[in-house]
Amino acid sequence: MATAVAASLAGATQLPALPRVSDPLSEFEYGAVQLTGGPLKRQYDRIHAAYMALDNDRLLRVYRLRAGLPAPGAPMGGWYGRDGFVPGHSLGQYISGLSRFGRATGDPACAAKVGELVAGFAATLGLHNMPFAAPNAENVWPCYILDKHLAGLMDAYKLSGIKDARDLVPRVFHGALPYIPQHGRDRIGKRNPPYDETYVLPESLFLAYEMTGDRAFYDRALAYLLDRDYFDPLAAGRDVLPGRHAYSHVIALSSAGKARLVLGDEKYLRAMQNAWALLQSTQQYATGGWGPNETFIEPHKGQLFDSLHTTADHFETPCGSYAAIKLARYLLCATGDARYGDGLERVLFNGTLAVKEPDSDGDYPYYSTYGSQVRKVFYPQKWPCCSGTLVEGVADYVRNIYFRTPGGVAVNFYAPSQLQWHEHGTPVTLAQETDYPLGGSVSLRVTCSAPVQFSMQVRVPGWVGATPSLHLNGKPVRADVRRGFAVIHHRWTNGDTLFFNLPQQFRAEPIDDLHPETVALLRGPLVYVERNPAAGGLEHAPIDSLQPSTASPGAFAARSAAQTRTYVPFYFVTGEAYTMYSQRAE
Ligand SMILES: [Zn+2]
Repeated sequence: MATAVAASLAGATQLPALPRVSDPLSEFEYGAVQLTGGPLKRQYDRIHAAYMALDNDRLLRVYRLRAGLPAPGAPMGGWYGRDGFVPGHSLGQYISGLSRFGRATGDPACAAKVGELVAGFAATLGLHNMPFAAPNAENVWPCYILDKHLAGLMDAYKLSGIKDARDLVPRVFHGALPYIPQHGRDRIGKRNPPYDETYVLPESLFLAYEMTGDRAFYDRALAYLLDRDYFDPLAAGRDVLPGRHAYSHVIALSSAGKARLVLGDEKYLRAMQNAWALLQSTQQYATGGWGPNETFIEPHKGQLFDSLHTTADHFETPCGSYAAIKLARYLLCATGDARYGDGLERVLFNGTLAVKEPDSDGDYPYYSTYGSQVRKVFYPQKWPCCSGTLVEGVADYVRNIYFRTPGGVAVNFYAPSQLQWHEHGTPVTLAQETDYPLGGSVSLRVTCSAPVQFSMQVRVPGWVGATPSLHLNGKPVRADVRRGFAVIHHRWTNGDTLFFNLPQQFRAEPIDDLHPETVALLRGPLVYVERNPAAGGLEHAPIDSLQPSTASPGAFAARSAAQTRTYVPFYFVTGEAYTMYSQRAE
């Protein structure tokens, strides 16, 4: 007996036990939720198709060249190319995104393509498991690329069922060890070397540790957590954001979220909450974006206002939205607080959903521009970082809508969709119909083979003001409001339908605290911009002059004797000129 205990204790020191954290919300797996209509599904389907169309030979070419293998297919060029900025950087993200699409949609072609890419990559690793495509990748960006390789291989194994991908996780890591530093380090600013971002890796390393049980992943995750320079001061309430590189320090907060779950240390939650509050109160544009020229500003100095005139690079949108949405999901789960859902929908509808659609040969959206008389453009170099986060972020749309609670489900996000799960052993389907985000009517219909008791929480967005009245099967129903969610306890029978309306009104939000007269117009969760603005317009149309346009659902028009001005959600804009920030009307 004593021997058995001693043996298990020895095992425990070898593999640290994972603390049990029981949080108010938890995420459903890919496959539990399907989008069924609306603008998110349109983008979701287009991105799914666009990444399925990527040519495997072209994607593998830089890796095959490095391995001395035949390398058919045209060079990718841009960032991805052999002499590019970060050679071969986004292969793991494309694999990851396709795995997520495949699991959520059931498209078998995704898993097949993932299998071919994983096998093609594995064939290039060689005896020393060399995971980098070119000297510029191994010398300048090894951690950045390793993070993406690990995410891709773990998703390929978990979501596409590619068994070999699991064995590649430790091989790729050990092959990368000669090139990655022993200890973590921070990256200050956008241009100062070293560029490489050790601190984005702990989340993937902890996940790899959970998958493989290999202690080396755990130890390196601890070594790379940015405690002293970032998480500790944030947890203590100090603002250490100004001057830091924006995207990488927000995605690093996902590593804080994972560290909290693995290590059981609540300082990581305080760091995430305080960082979120700082982003919201000091860094954020109306879209939920932040980081002009990829750098956090000094608050209370009018620098967001200045950025409208000094740069067009206001928000690194696919990457930044991906980081902000992941952070929001970690915070939602840890706290059950709906305000993180408010932030999530803001940056999703006005960030990821509003980007210019990629072309078929490497032209991708990167920076969004929030000034006046501007247009959406592609990044000048092909295959940038944002080509990797775009597919992952859009594939993740299905993870933002519904969350599991100890007593039922929470509806965090409104989009035509369907959730399937088991409640007390009974299979339940929840079908959501809504005209969101252009309108606010939401209907949630339960299908179940037998009556089942559970609570349904629905998020009441902060912009609504008052709690809306809820109707169950046409009759008013009482709801408790808890942390921004209205909670309905009910014994649900087949066909029960909950209905409510979230009324949307226009409002103006200032660019920063020193410039209350420079505003963006919002309605519900959406930023509205003036489409094809007349030259020389210095003021927005007055809010009370905006009337629904008969020409296009969701558009609004302000008519005067001289002209008609049109305002549309930012995500409506494709190639035409627009103005987001302008002076508040007198
Ligand atoms: Zn990017």
